[in-house]
Amino acid sequence: REGTGIHLQDLPQAMLDMPLCMFRLMKRLEQNHHLKHGARLQLGLFLKGCGLTMDESLHFWKTEFSKGGISSDKFDKEYAYAIRHHYGKEGKRASYTPFSCMKIIQNRPSAHEEHGCPFRELNSASLDVMLQSYGIQDAESRNSIVQKAREGHFQVACGMTLQMKKAGRRTKLSEETTTPMDNAHYIPSHPNEYFFKSREKNE
Ligand code: SF4
Repeated sequence: REGTGIHLQDLPQAMLDMPLCMFRLMKRLEQNHHLKHGARLQLGLFLKGCGLTMDESLHFWKTEFSKGGISSDKFDKEYAYAIRHHYGKEGKRASYTPFSCMKIIQNRPSAHEEHGCPFRELNSASLDVMLQSYGIQDAESRNSIVQKAREGHFQVACGMTLQMKKAGRRTKLSEETTTPMDNAHYIPSHPNEYFFKSREKNE
């Protein structure tokens, strides 16, 4: 992964390469300056898998939380431990692995939690809005993606989303499938794999 990993300064731009499960949490964090435990774990381990060092992660979360009024002292007392823990610097010193799609899909949030796979957890209208903010402008394409998610094919719907994003905003998914690209049948199994695959377009 060396050379393709990202660092703190790359995060704003890299958001567009994150799968919807992480893009959604980044947006939430931007808006609320806070995330609940399950979401912090899901996003935090993903960012580690993207290449962020422990110091960068601590800086990232501290900065975001401070915008919501969490003091540096409170952050150090209540949140920093968990982040160091993800990197194996606390507790049993085991280094934690970023979650796979299967784990995220199965680890369902309660009503007030924010983690999970949006293709499973969001209702059709909310998923449509989320896809739009992710840059999928064509309504027909969004509709096909939502439909696939409603059928229970969450990872297929996610792969279609990447395909659509890679195809650019000019093309409809229906046109795209008549001229399949390399990744036309890509089905993600891990958010970090999706991320690096999405970034291939820029290289
Ligand atoms: Fe994330 Fe996987 Fe769901 Fe895509 S299918 S949104 S990568 S958990």
